[in-house]
Amino acid sequence: MAYPDTYYSRTVGPDLVTEPLSEYIETKVCVIGGGLAGVSTGMGLVERHIDCVLLEGQQVGWGASGRNGGFVSAGFSQSALKLVSWLGESHAKRLYKLTCNAVDLIEQRIIGFEDSIVEGEPGSITASWFDDEKGVRRYVDDMNRIFDEDLQFWSRQRVAESYLTDRYFDGFLNPRTLCFQSLNYVLHLARLAQASGLRIFDATPALRVQKKKDQWLVITPSGSILADNVVYACSGYIGSLQPKLSRATLPVATYVLLTQELGSRLADAVRSPYAVSDNRFSSNYYRIVGNRRLLWGGRVSMFQPSQKKLAGLMLKDLLSVYPQLAGIQADVAWGGTMGYARHKMPQIGQLSAGEWYCQGFGGHGMATTTLGGELIASAIATDDTRYQLFSPFGLRYVGKPFGPVIAQMAYWSYQLQDALRVSRLNRKF
Ligand SMILES: Cc1cc2nc3c(=O)[nH]c(=O)nc-3n(C[C@H](O)[C@H](O)[C@H](O)COP(=O)(O)OP(=O)(O)OC[C@H]3O[C@@H](n4cnc5c(N)ncnc54)[C@H](O)[C@@H]3O)c2cc1C
Repeated sequence: MAYPDTYYSRTVGPDLVTEPLSEYIETKVCVIGGGLAGVSTGMGLVERHIDCVLLEGQQVGWGASGRNGGFVSAGFSQSALKLVSWLGESHAKRLYKLTCNAVDLIEQRIIGFEDSIVEGEPGSITASWFDDEKGVRRYVDDMNRIFDEDLQFWSRQRVAESYLTDRYFDGFLNPRTLCFQSLNYVLHLARLAQASGLRIFDATPALRVQKKKDQWLVITPSGSILADNVVYACSGYIGSLQPKLSRATLPVATYVLLTQELGSRLADAVRSPYAVSDNRFSSNYYRIVGNRRLLWGGRVSMFQPSQKKLAGLMLKDLLSVYPQLAGIQADVAWGGTMGYARHKMPQIGQLSAGEWYCQGFGGHGMATTTLGGELIASAIATDDTRYQLFSPFGLRYVGKPFGPVIAQMAYWSYQLQDALRVSRLNRKF
């Protein structure tokens, strides 16, 4: 299946050379899913000299990994400060540090390939939607003190000079954020892994996984794999392949818009090179790509609208922040499905001997998938037990078959909480 029409598929580099599986193979590890979680796991395994086969139902990077916002930064979907209150400072710091290491590892893996992968200046701004300077300062101080971050407070004047909107108040710069052509990154990583021995089969959905004594038989349409270990990295596309994982995965659709070239009009709105997100629960995020276009992300919804309707909705969101851009045109809009857990933390662990999972990276997956891949690979190769740092989060039931309704209701409740906070804190509207 071809990649969907996105900014990423329009600017993708050379093809990855793969073919569907048409034979029987015995191997040490079979990874199911060729998104960043699966490819990172495969890469981690072959780097540790473990024989591994990866199966992808469509094409490598076809899922969320090849069509996201492209923001790469430390941390999780769940707030780091919430982790402190749940787990204590020491445990939360260890988890957070793993995500920082993952960003470092990504940087190492792209050395020499930056031109086709890295986009724009490093650094991103989080702009506060709320008139709460003290709250922003407190957050910056806490993150720097507890997690050794380097966040830099930006006054509302500085934010207003850089982003010409009435919507924002104060903000902060995270100088460590990178922005990526995410499809090129997944394909680059897959090529590196292939060069180290990973065998990748695309257009090869795993249909069933059967236990065979202490091994796993993975059945696909035209071949099968017998492996000592199986790793599920299927995210929001898992369907019913593994019931325990399926019932713990909430598939959530979310969206991105690419505008047409804005030319000199871009400076009427955005005068800073840094990517932006706001701090609402139901936030928007955006960055400049290509020839002065905006790549604008946000929203979740129960049913995926048509592409034309989607472009209109996303443009409306953009114009609610930058009304002075009225008249600009959408070029293309697309959606993708993320796999969320109830606790908004990754699910990284073992169901039974040799049966692993690496999923639940919804909302914040570029670095955390890398971390998940490393922990699972290291556990299989060396009995490393660090993956157990994630055991408090578990595989809680997400309410299927009503998952999409639950996701939609959660989003509406987030919007309501944002609106209540605006009416409590903001005086300028
Ligand atoms: C629109 C959007 C914007 C986002 N923006 C950001 C961002 O800016 N920064 C960030 O950090 N994160 C972002 N995310 C989240 C991030 O993209 C994901 O968390 C991450 O890519 C998840 O990777 P994954 O490998 O777990 O899943 P995916 O990339 O979805 O990969 C799962 C793969 O498994 C395959 N698969 C499923 N079932 C089978 C099977 N039975 N057999 C074989 N293959 C199978 C699928 O075909 C798919 O390719 C965004 C997500 C979306 C959708």
